[in-house]
Amino acid sequence: MKTINDFNFEDKKALIRVDFNVPLNENFEVTDDTRIQAAKPTIIKILEDGGSAVLMSHLGRPKGVQDEFSLRHIIDKVSDVLGVQVKYVANCVGQEAEDAVGQLNPGEVLLLENLRFHPTETAGDVAFAEQLSKLGDIYVNDAFGTAHRAHASTTIVAQFFPESKCFGSLLAKEIESIDKVLSTGEQPITAILGGSKVSSKITIIENVLDTVDNLIIGGGMTYTFIKAKGGQIGSSICEDDKQELALEILKKAEEKGVKVHLPVDVLGADAFDNNANTQIVAVDAIPEGWQGLDVGPETVKRFSEVVSESKTILWNGPLGVFEMETFAKGTIDLGHAIANATKEGAFSLVGGGDSVAAVKQFGFGDKVSYVSTGGGAMLESLEGKTLPGIEAIEK
Ligand code: AMP
Repeated sequence: MKTINDFNFEDKKALIRVDFNVPLNENFEVTDDTRIQAAKPTIIKILEDGGSAVLMSHLGRPKGVQDEFSLRHIIDKVSDVLGVQVKYVANCVGQEAEDAVGQLNPGEVLLLENLRFHPTETAGDVAFAEQLSKLGDIYVNDAFGTAHRAHASTTIVAQFFPESKCFGSLLAKEIESIDKVLSTGEQPITAILGGSKVSSKITIIENVLDTVDNLIIGGGMTYTFIKAKGGQIGSSICEDDKQELALEILKKAEEKGVKVHLPVDVLGADAFDNNANTQIVAVDAIPEGWQGLDVGPETVKRFSEVVSESKTILWNGPLGVFEMETFAKGTIDLGHAIANATKEGAFSLVGGGDSVAAVKQFGFGDKVSYVSTGGGAMLESLEGKTLPGIEAIEK
């Protein structure tokens, strides 16, 4: 894997694909700069080498040129984060952009206008990618969040830098973390998969069965498995057409020697409501009219034991309806267990949508080894797909 550490950027212009798709408020101020902070180490390394940085990103989903999606709104924030006054050019290709790059000195940073003002970006247009390629000597991809898209700036442009392309440190860290969970990590490896539906996680489950020692299943997915095994699940969420699939997964896991851990007790509720009446019930004896909305205490105890004995941990998906306080305990307790295991030396990766939100909301962000920045890209990696943005650098 070629990274920025394999290059000396002295007197070089680095064309860097970053993910500055940040949230803006009604005054066009950045409300969360996590993604800008995440790209900082790569940019700083290049500047410290004596190079300059040309930053390209998308922002939102503009239809053609729309000022509300202009990257000029984020110039001040990027300058603040980097500690360098960032220059800006109102297009990402063409003479204007080439001139701005031509005037760039070592130590300077240039922000290009929104890539998606050109529909050729998402179309993966080769001519557009070639125009982009004129804006740097070395191509650096540091945008994991878009690595699963074969867009001009994320994938196609790489072909114009056959010898001089690499991963930025953020993207390298993402790849390394996922590799640990899927192949190189220390055993025992445990995957915790929660969330609402079997159907959205099935490919991930099948893919991780090849590497993990333990598969913990929680969240709404639980009930499809329990019903398939003959349990009473009341009115809990269930995909009836996936019951057979659930049994197949259990069989495959057994054949591969993977231990599957399903909840044994749950917090049942008489309505999908934070103020519902609740009771702890056995997972396979949920009374009619009640639904399981969180895991119960015995389940948390068992899951935590598995986690504490694991050396590599993947967490994707909450164990309950954590958005409601009444049903957040299982997810929070599991977060504590993962944080403790991490403190004891395990590697823990949290990623893919809602678990990232949960980890941030409950303050576990800095207590796990790595929180992935890419939702869709992370899920596709865990499904075992080769991401086009990653392949373009590697080949
Ligand atoms: P996903 O996007 O598939 O990871 O699913 C995340 C969603 O699953 C969250 O919004 C949770 O509220 C929801 N969820 C977790 N457990 C349950 C459950 N027992 N019943 C219904 N929804 C659940």
